[in-house]
Amino acid sequence: MVYADNAATTKMNRAAMEAMLPYMEGVWGNPSSLYAFGQKAREALESARSRIASCLGATPDGIYFTSGGSEADNQAILSAARNGAKKGKKHIISTAFEHHAVLHTLKKLEREGFEIELLEVHENGIVKPEQVAGAIREDTALVTVMYANNEVGSVQPISEIGAVCREKGVLFHTDAVQAAGHLPIDIQAQNIDMLSLSSHKFHGPKGIGVLYARKGIPLVNIIEGGAQERGKRGGTENVPAVMGMAAALEEACSHLEENTEKLLKMRAKLIDGLSKIPHSILNGDAESRLPGNVNFCFEGIEGESLLLLLDDKGICASSGSACTSGSLDPSHVLLAIGRPHEIAHGSLRLSLSEDNTEEDVEHIVKSVPEVVSYLRGISPLWKEKLAGKRDFLLPE
Ligand SMILES: *Cc1c(COP(=O)(O)O)cnc(C)c1O
Repeated sequence: MVYADNAATTKMNRAAMEAMLPYMEGVWGNPSSLYAFGQKAREALESARSRIASCLGATPDGIYFTSGGSEADNQAILSAARNGAKKGKKHIISTAFEHHAVLHTLKKLEREGFEIELLEVHENGIVKPEQVAGAIREDTALVTVMYANNEVGSVQPISEIGAVCREKGVLFHTDAVQAAGHLPIDIQAQNIDMLSLSSHKFHGPKGIGVLYARKGIPLVNIIEGGAQERGKRGGTENVPAVMGMAAALEEACSHLEENTEKLLKMRAKLIDGLSKIPHSILNGDAESRLPGNVNFCFEGIEGESLLLLLDDKGICASSGSACTSGSLDPSHVLLAIGRPHEIAHGSLRLSLSEDNTEEDVEHIVKSVPEVVSYLRGISPLWKEKLAGKRDFLLPE
């Protein structure tokens, strides 16, 4: 099997599994218990917090453990909104191609009377800091812009956007779920006030993540309960998962350069190979993109059919279109970068990890053109285009 869907989830690595086992077999006490056995779990949890903080250039008192990226996004945005509303600030700036964990939270706030302004992301999928500066108002409560897009892989100028927000005194949150463990993160240097990450996107366990919130930012609870996470997130801590996440993040951050180098080579080969398919287009910026991300649109095909046929060839990939997401609309991300509906339906996302090999890349580069031309061959629409009865939307 060639697994090329690492933006959806990654395989847990040995380091993470080995870090978890002792907290299932041995130190399985409740970190809130007062006896020494519980306190051992507490110590482990706090050491993991410090290690995660140092990977991010943050202080441990800013790290809150959550159930993952979605919860962290919800808590960051709702906290900023509630705090803003108290001061009469009900304007929030974001982008049109955020993850649904962000967009649906913003929709909820819109129904409550907040004004949500979604910035355009241009054809390359990148927001300019000037756009953010131009949109900030007296009553802006929050700017939330993702670090790297999960579909088209474009990497945003986070430090610059952070600097604009800092200068204007507006809170800045970034959904860094696709970036953590894959791109350098330095919360202090990048002017980040709040950040979300998720362990299962960097070879850690699923169902655990982090919300970072700079000291002094009051958080609103999503989960009410006990005094865990300094009273900001009720529920007995998932110590094994936290230990796995800390190990996976350290592993990823300490191998960042060599992993990036390996991924960039594979990405270049994929892009080079797939660009040769006629009437195709690369989505996202060619340079400023996640090292493992490749995303193409192929005219005249349906993403789901492409995925099913690739599955037959042992390739796990993803498409931003239709049935995969349970709706008939094409990906909001591809529409946001200006792809017409018809083109957006024929998308393919390949997301590699350092576990992929040159052979995987060769298999993909051989298989995708075969599948695309087979699907075009059985498409009545494609025949009409070839016969000149319909226009091609993408150049040869
Ligand atoms: C995966 C993902 C999330 C959600 O993270 P979970 O831990 O699965 O809840 C949020 N944002 C982005 C950009 C993602 O890729």
